[in-house]
Amino acid sequence: MASPASTNSMDASFATPDVSSAQPAAAGPRVEHFLQRIKLFSTLSYDECQQVLKRMKRRDFPPQHVIVREGAPGKSMFFITAGAVEIRKKDPNTGIDFLLSEMGPGQNFGEMSLLTGKPRTASVTTIQATTCAILEQKDFHDLLMQFPSMGLSLTTILAERLEQSNLQGGIEFINLAKLQFDPRVLALVPQIMMLQHKVIPVAYINNRLTLAMVNPNNILALDDLRRIIKGVMIEPVITTEDDFRKFMSTTYAQLMKKNETETAAAVVAAVPSRTETAPSTSIEDLDMLQSELIRDLTMTESTNEGDFETKQDLMHASEDAPIIRLGNSLLGLAIKRGASDIHVEPMEKDVLVRYRIDGVLQTVQSLPKKVQMGLTSRLKIISKLDISEKRMPQDGRISVFMEGKPIDFRVSTIPCKWGEKVCMRILDKSNTSLGLEKLITHEPTLRLVRELINLPYGIMYVTGPTGSGKTTTLYSALTEINDPGINISTAEDPIEYDLAGINQVQANKDIGLDFSRILRAFLRQDPDVILVGETRDKETAHISVEAALTGHLVFTTLHTNSAAGAFSRLNEMGIEPFLVSSSTIGLMAQRLARRLCKNCKESYQADDATCDYMSVPRGSTLFKGKGCDQCSGKGVRGRIGIYEVMKMVPELRQMVAKGALTEDIHNKALQLGMLDLKKYAAILLLNGDTSVEEVLQVVSVQE
Ligand SMILES: [Zn+2]
Repeated sequence: MASPASTNSMDASFATPDVSSAQPAAAGPRVEHFLQRIKLFSTLSYDECQQVLKRMKRRDFPPQHVIVREGAPGKSMFFITAGAVEIRKKDPNTGIDFLLSEMGPGQNFGEMSLLTGKPRTASVTTIQATTCAILEQKDFHDLLMQFPSMGLSLTTILAERLEQSNLQGGIEFINLAKLQFDPRVLALVPQIMMLQHKVIPVAYINNRLTLAMVNPNNILALDDLRRIIKGVMIEPVITTEDDFRKFMSTTYAQLMKKNETETAAAVVAAVPSRTETAPSTSIEDLDMLQSELIRDLTMTESTNEGDFETKQDLMHASEDAPIIRLGNSLLGLAIKRGASDIHVEPMEKDVLVRYRIDGVLQTVQSLPKKVQMGLTSRLKIISKLDISEKRMPQDGRISVFMEGKPIDFRVSTIPCKWGEKVCMRILDKSNTSLGLEKLITHEPTLRLVRELINLPYGIMYVTGPTGSGKTTTLYSALTEINDPGINISTAEDPIEYDLAGINQVQANKDIGLDFSRILRAFLRQDPDVILVGETRDKETAHISVEAALTGHLVFTTLHTNSAAGAFSRLNEMGIEPFLVSSSTIGLMAQRLARRLCKNCKESYQADDATCDYMSVPRGSTLFKGKGCDQCSGKGVRGRIGIYEVMKMVPELRQMVAKGALTEDIHNKALQLGMLDLKKYAAILLLNGDTSVEEVLQVVSVQE
């Protein structure tokens, strides 16, 4: 140890500026002794502290002075009375000094070596001019004999230290703010993984990665990293959650910005002239890379665990940081824009990205061909698909958390001429869109639906093409009747929303767990209400009918255009008309039309031909969207449901039992007061909810 600035024998005059005011002119029993602030001596009286003080040596150290060096023998302990020190420890593998902690007046160090007789485990350096009271080993032992209460204090201190060390699993804490970071080391681990597992690569030397972790027991994180950096040895160190956040939002963002703008610029530069179809979206997407949204997008599923050795190239391409960010930005932007589907379509010279928003596909971006392999592989990896299989269609799933909400992507791939096309359906499981009153804006129709779903048994069919919102309607119905007193079970493919208090079963055709099999199992589980995602085969249709006839309420969907169309579809599946007639309680057909933007819609006087065609009175005032900032100039924003609800009344039952024609049943229902899709749409038109153009896109109005 280098020579200190001064060494004095301890006496009553030993005092630092900040404690001198507490120092009495004449020692009194009630006045605090500065040594009492040190935990070890906190139980001693003023006079006893004076005796301790006599055995101590005062030492003043200049700034940046090494008081104790790691590895040196320890023969004394130190009590800081003024100033501040840093406790540092060298990582043997990387040679990096980690800051373990800082200490100030009232704290002590060096007692461990004093007790164990082992070399110092860390170095202590002064940050500023520091004064310590030093106690030698021999004096320390004498004091312990003389003042047994000091021994008790010491056991408390040691117990606390042990507890802290157990908490950390024997792993050292580091202070991120004091480290120098190499962007190349940081780039070893994708940002998404850093955020997901709360880890930061600190140093990488000789295949050893020093990894700062908020939770060093996170085995998943270690596994994931080993997958990305093959054969790496990971040395975990601990950082606090606070430090981690600070680091990611400041240091990391700054360091990576340079790298990112370079690679991002390269991607933009490579985008071909197709940009006129999607002006400014590239820039917007790159903004997205930086945005909070993407930071919040964390994968909840780890990457596929498979034999990647033979797939090195694909893996390599897919783990490129810009590719990972591109993949994330595609998902993030889709969610932000409220898209329902993402299409990644390889073309001859580029890769098209399209989103389905409010039911309509829109081109978002055209990417350079060179990102195709990496991006496709990346999407396949996070969806747990086999990346080496490119000739067969596959399907999988991604789960992400965005802004605290769980969002699932159902992913499918299909080999196309210019490469694999990836299509992703977004399943927002936060079920914020649920609620019959949110869906059905027409009061009498809402009442009718509520009447049907509250019947004790029977089947309710919801029909319509894909993407018409059938599932949302049924889920909303389920949440409405959900009650701890009844057993609700659902068989789904996929599970689109998470519903509390409902038994949801995911169908899995790979293992033979189809709807009919789940249904049969449900019937042995004392069910009250059953939802079958879709009736698409004879067996499922049969069991549903059977369940309805034996006192259960069954909800399901069918692919037919109209409510009445369900009957012929069921007959085609081989269900006897009398069984259909007696088991069905109601049918709904539905469509989703784009809703006019409330901000910019304008009324106009519709001409007679339009009025006649749309079944609204001549001279009606209708509405159209003008386009404004709020609707991105489209004039439409969000969607609204068009419903046709058929309640099974005796007249209709008789017709169905006799196998009447779909058209005849439909007309009879109209006579009995049913609103069909066309009539329901007319109500929406007159309300100014949607426009003629939008209705014509989803409802066939010709008779
Ligand atoms: Zn608008």
